[in-house]
Amino acid sequence: MLICAASNNAGKLKELRRILERMGHQVKSLRELGIDLDPEETGTTFAENARIKAEAFCKASGLPTVADDSGLCVDALNGAPGVYSARYAGHHGDDAANNAKLLQEMQQVPAEQRTARFVSAVCFLMPDGRELLVEGECPGTVAFGETGTNGFGYDPLFVPDRVGLPDGTTVENTARRSYAELADGEKDAISHRGRAMEKLDAQLPAFLAQS
Ligand code: IMP
Repeated sequence: MLICAASNNAGKLKELRRILERMGHQVKSLRELGIDLDPEETGTTFAENARIKAEAFCKASGLPTVADDSGLCVDALNGAPGVYSARYAGHHGDDAANNAKLLQEMQQVPAEQRTARFVSAVCFLMPDGRELLVEGECPGTVAFGETGTNGFGYDPLFVPDRVGLPDGTTVENTARRSYAELADGEKDAISHRGRAMEKLDAQLPAFLAQS
């Protein structure tokens, strides 16, 4: 199926594209479709914001659309930055400033209290208005400093509890590697977005078969 991968975030788009292509779909990005839109994320939950983005981009593209809203929820910060992850330091999408702020806010938090989880809500919307919403989570901890150069956003600070293996299974992350130190497949197999997309993949055939 030809799908619009609706994200203005280059790192997220790269992941959505590779996961959707692995699922056997053809993918068009917003740039490839000539869509220059930045819908306001007024929702209070990841699911609401995913739906807002899917609606705006599905209408603009006329294609079945996949939009993700995601973020990092830190226990010691009562769930922050949460839905404000992209604009935690005040300026939308400034990864370096967001990471610096997160480290600053957690300066006094000891190792055993640095638990967190990444959450991804993925909304698949058809031009006829039918929608499928799925969510994925990845538990882990926030490190005391950045490691790794892969990925985007908070990747250098987030240490997932498990990592993926090439055969699709997962193992405990005993080496304590950050998201940014993982290869694409190692991250996709355990990541919040990978898990949400796995659910989408499983539910899509039945969803599409509904008239
Ligand atoms: P959104 O585009 O409003 O959903 O913003 C998501 C924000 O959450 C991004 O700007 C990143 O800061 C963060 N984020 C979401 N997923 C990831 C990820 O896989 N790695 C690192 N940061 C992420």
